[in-house]
Amino acid sequence: MRNRGDAGVEILLEGEEPKIQSFLRDLKEKKPPLTRIYGIIKTPLTGKNQHAKFTIYKSSEATELSGSVIPPDVAICNDCLQELRDPKDPRHNYFFITCTNCGPRFTIIERLPYDRENTTMREFPMCSFCQQEYSDPLNRRFHAQTVACPTCGPEAYLTTSSGEHVKHDDPVREAGRLLSEGAVLAVKGYGGFHVAASATRDEPLQRLRRAKHRRAKPFAIMARSIEAARGFAEVTSKEQTLLESYARPIVLLNKSDAYSLSRFVAPDLHNVGVMLPYTGLHYMLFDRVDDAAFVMTSANPPSQPIVKDNYEALKTLGETVDYFLFHNRKIAYRCDDSVLRVHGTRQSFIRRSRGYAPAPLMLNQKARRCVVGLGGELNNTACVLLGNKAFVSQHVGDVENVETRSFLQEATSHLIRLTNSRVDAVACDLHPKFTTTHLARELAEHNGWRLIQVQHHHAHVAALMMEHAVDELVGVVCDGYGYGVDGGAWGGEILFCTRESEGFKRLGHLEPQPLLGGDTATRYPLRIAAGMLSKTVDVEPWLLEHSEFLLHGETEAKLVLQQLEKGVGITETTSCGRVLDAVSAVLGVCYERTYEGEPAIKLESAAIKGKEVLNMEPIIEGGVLCTSQMLQRVFENAGKLSVADLAYSAHAYLARGLASLAVEKALEQGVGAVGFSGGAACNQILAEVMRGTVEAAGLRFLVHELVPAGDGGVSFGQAVVGGFFKV
Ligand SMILES: [Zn+2]
Ligand SMILES: [Zn+2]
Ligand SMILES: [Zn+2]
Repeated sequence: MRNRGDAGVEILLEGEEPKIQSFLRDLKEKKPPLTRIYGIIKTPLTGKNQHAKFTIYKSSEATELSGSVIPPDVAICNDCLQELRDPKDPRHNYFFITCTNCGPRFTIIERLPYDRENTTMREFPMCSFCQQEYSDPLNRRFHAQTVACPTCGPEAYLTTSSGEHVKHDDPVREAGRLLSEGAVLAVKGYGGFHVAASATRDEPLQRLRRAKHRRAKPFAIMARSIEAARGFAEVTSKEQTLLESYARPIVLLNKSDAYSLSRFVAPDLHNVGVMLPYTGLHYMLFDRVDDAAFVMTSANPPSQPIVKDNYEALKTLGETVDYFLFHNRKIAYRCDDSVLRVHGTRQSFIRRSRGYAPAPLMLNQKARRCVVGLGGELNNTACVLLGNKAFVSQHVGDVENVETRSFLQEATSHLIRLTNSRVDAVACDLHPKFTTTHLARELAEHNGWRLIQVQHHHAHVAALMMEHAVDELVGVVCDGYGYGVDGGAWGGEILFCTRESEGFKRLGHLEPQPLLGGDTATRYPLRIAAGMLSKTVDVEPWLLEHSEFLLHGETEAKLVLQQLEKGVGITETTSCGRVLDAVSAVLGVCYERTYEGEPAIKLESAAIKGKEVLNMEPIIEGGVLCTSQMLQRVFENAGKLSVADLAYSAHAYLARGLASLAVEKALEQGVGAVGFSGGAACNQILAEVMRGTVEAAGLRFLVHELVPAGDGGVSFGQAVVGGFFKV
């Protein structure tokens, strides 16, 4: 047997035909839990009795084939967990216990083939005990590249915020005790550092919010067990399956009536992001304490990637935390936790990263060229499309500065190298000023690749089409902002896309609404509400009454009113996000956006227990869904009807309106399906109401299940347009 650096495992079998057949059957049926068999290619050979025993040959350097599958990180398995707890086991209480079925993969691999010397485990030569397990074909650690024990493997240690060692014979459990008592710690994991704190005490969380400049953005938590999670959240069986899967993502769970964690964990939201421990170290943190959960949030300075190196951690987190729980194994590639939520029984990715990336999405056909997609600007990923595999990178984040730009470059070139791809084209957004567009131009010029620019919402729909293997689709795309083909700010779009024609047709959109002061309006949604309302009501008294929620109070309110009157300094947008923001401000749910999507996210939380009270018929004129009258109705009823019911009714109006418009267009085009994409497609109410309308019309309703509906899926969509569509 030989592990080929390129595209799989080569096995030479010698024996009688029935025995060979039964081996091939066993290969499929009795494979280890993590094994994915993408295909078996059989080549008959002649020869006799040349092989007396089973031998594994050194991995070949051969690289004539490409498209290797790089395994994602895998949570600790039950066998390892049992050994961790067994006083007689040599790895009893060893924080970095792993085997062939579990442990870090993507984050330790520097190059292929996946052998120990090509990983950051190279620095830990195996002791004789580990070596013996590694060489025994019957052992669970046979050829486990991460095998290690307390004698030969990585060590964990505790330091103060300035890096001085804190002597303790059990640093991991001591770290757990410190957390429980109210200390803030940076904890090194597989793909980077978490900042951890008690989930029930207010003080450390307030301190953390001040230090991280995160006034309201929810923190993810790690629950000690599924039972502990049930103590404060509702867990459906689908959610449990995801939480316990070896990818161990963060799953957004509805808070239960018994929710008693600190109000600073997930302020004003109906749900909370929960994950289960995924390393030996995580389990040990909970051993000596009673805490049901700890806050475990990615350690990244504002708009920078997650911290992964010890020195970098000391430098950037020293002022935020009281202690560091380090280990001395290097992280080759950073990788944030994944985030999912469940709509009914369907999973919806908010972030696809650790545990999933960069395992490829297997497509139903081969792309005609190898394309790299660089994504958009926010919540970004990169994608390498090669043959019938799409390798979507880990979460890169907002590509706005030097650090995130170089992380994107690094993640992209690492993917190209690992997959041994010969790239033909690079795809990027249509926006002329995005960092990713500049980067794409540079790469195209430097490498002689073709440059393919793809409109933002076209990329969203293309991703959805490829996920469901359909050749044409009417897609509803709802998000915050995308650069339109006319240079306008789009974000509530109905597009007809086919693989056979270049580009797409924009068949409908939301009513263009005034955006007073561009980015300032996005930050203070009162400005959007004032602009929208000014079309139908006298907005002056209301705006002046609420002027305290603008940055410069009354002065600013008066300026806004002047602008509206004169029509200066106003751009327009069809964004769905902005309409939700306006409703959020009118209902007093959120007046300031301190994190991406905050007013709309909080509006969904406010609406989750609401019901339809306005029952507004969608007003559609010439392919445009009007939103002014809807906001006017919400405005007139604010204070009379409940916030929950009005928030729900606004959602229902938008979803029903867009869906019926999309259905009408689909029937006109003779298309059997309507899709829903964009960041707002993670919104459960919008998705459910839209599904109801589309399915009632007898059409299929398609949503994302493999890539994020938000901008984490854009790089994949761009690559799809470049590799499968007519361009
Ligand atoms: Zn294991
Ligand atoms: Zn060892
Ligand atoms: Zn988008």
